[in-house]
Amino acid sequence: MRAVVVGGGLAGITAAIALAETGHDVTLLEARPRLGGATCSFNRDGLVVDTGQHVFLGCCDAYRGLLDRLGMTAHAPVQDRFDVTVLAPGGKTARLRRTALPGPAHMLPALARYPFLTLAERARVSRPALAMRFLDPAAPATDTQRFGDWLAAHGQDERSRRALWDLFSVSALNIAGDDASLALAAVVVKTGLLGKNNAADIGVAALPLGELHGDAGATLLAKLGARVTTGAKVTAIEAADGGGYRVVLADGELTADAVVLAVPHEKAAPLMPPGALPAETVAGWAGLGASPIVNVHVIYDRPVMDLPFVAAIDSPVQWVFDRTKISGMDRPGHQYLAISLSAADQYADTPVAELQEQFVPALAELFPAACDATVTEFFVTRERRATFRQAPGSGALRPKAATAQPGLVLAGAWTDTGWPDTMEGAVRSGLAAAAQLKASLTTIGVPK
Ligand SMILES: Cc1cc2nc3c(=O)[nH]c(=O)nc-3n(C[C@H](O)[C@H](O)[C@H](O)COP(=O)(O)OP(=O)(O)OC[C@H]3O[C@@H](n4cnc5c(N)ncnc54)[C@H](O)[C@@H]3O)c2cc1C
Repeated sequence: MRAVVVGGGLAGITAAIALAETGHDVTLLEARPRLGGATCSFNRDGLVVDTGQHVFLGCCDAYRGLLDRLGMTAHAPVQDRFDVTVLAPGGKTARLRRTALPGPAHMLPALARYPFLTLAERARVSRPALAMRFLDPAAPATDTQRFGDWLAAHGQDERSRRALWDLFSVSALNIAGDDASLALAAVVVKTGLLGKNNAADIGVAALPLGELHGDAGATLLAKLGARVTTGAKVTAIEAADGGGYRVVLADGELTADAVVLAVPHEKAAPLMPPGALPAETVAGWAGLGASPIVNVHVIYDRPVMDLPFVAAIDSPVQWVFDRTKISGMDRPGHQYLAISLSAADQYADTPVAELQEQFVPALAELFPAACDATVTEFFVTRERRATFRQAPGSGALRPKAATAQPGLVLAGAWTDTGWPDTMEGAVRSGLAAAAQLKASLTTIGVPK
């Protein structure tokens, strides 16, 4: 099978590897100058900067499988045990560390001691956790509900939702906690909190994402005999007369037996050949919308944070990561922190100077050492369409990999993976697309 994969993010890289590994003739076309999609890095005056800090969880089996295939497992270490320090202005600190008990008991001791909730609020935390066990994320009715309403109905007051549930749901689903789809929140809670005790252990890359995914993906694909063309923007996909497809680029075209369309949803819609899916299905993708993530990068003349990352409450700061080593920074004694702001609608267009006015004092409220430190550099990266808006109703708009046209399949973290728009979702979608194509080899005129 001659397969063309359009889009070189994690979904496209995964699909291309899966097809090339089974002996198919694969070409991967990526519009940008490099692979990796939303997980990318750039160089800024000798610093390697990720446009957006990424983390993953112990339960991200498909993503971890890809890391393994890329030879990158050692460069993306996972905590021995889920362990998150939560800071609030004024010096109050909590440590949410799981025990070795089997899930879901593994988190109970930490939650029982969580100092940002009253005793009564802590006692009520187990109510939604228990009710969640009986919730089916795949049921259409679950997708129509707001996570915040469901939590409130299960005894979680405003304080519990902001000081505990938001900590994880906002960053996992990139939408204000109350507004998230209950279905997607349930996937996160059921897998991470109620599943195996190591499911929520946090993994953070020790290399820039561009190296971890994009460069490693290009190297492996070359080894497998696949062709990778960057700077190749596909402008149309057309069914060819004798079967198969014409994949049209600005400066030429390719023919293929099969196409994996692995681009973001708003880019996929205009590339769909007529009749590949009902027009209302394709138009429905527009309803998935987009939600921004903003990263605020701050370099200090001295260390101010002594942990690899922390979360914050009662502060505009959400999560802070120490990027000093990963960025390759060569400024003795300095520390480079990145604040990751999810559901960042209010910051997407805020001028850098205003963000600096807000976030430098906010960091000083969390880290006493920052009060005396000098900020030597401050910059901001904004991903306005970081993920789709993971709101109620979004599940019904996400298509499966298969289309009505044999040999044309969809991939991307926005497709119907059952997972939120994450690296795990992207890799799962790439695997599903490749499996769908392999299963339909005879239908598309290729002997099995
Ligand atoms: C700032 C930020 C932080 C995030 N944090 C996390 C996190 O902590 N954990 C997590 O799991 N996930 C996180 N995510 C989400 C995760 O990055 C995405 O879900 C995942 O990378 C999407 O992969 P994808 O392959 O589906 O799409 P993309 O990465 O968007 O790849 C699609 C590719 O298609 C290419 N393309 C588009 N149009 C064309 C065309 N016409 N022709 C050829 N190529 C085209 C694009 O250039 C792009 O490279 C974050 C995302 C962002 C932006």
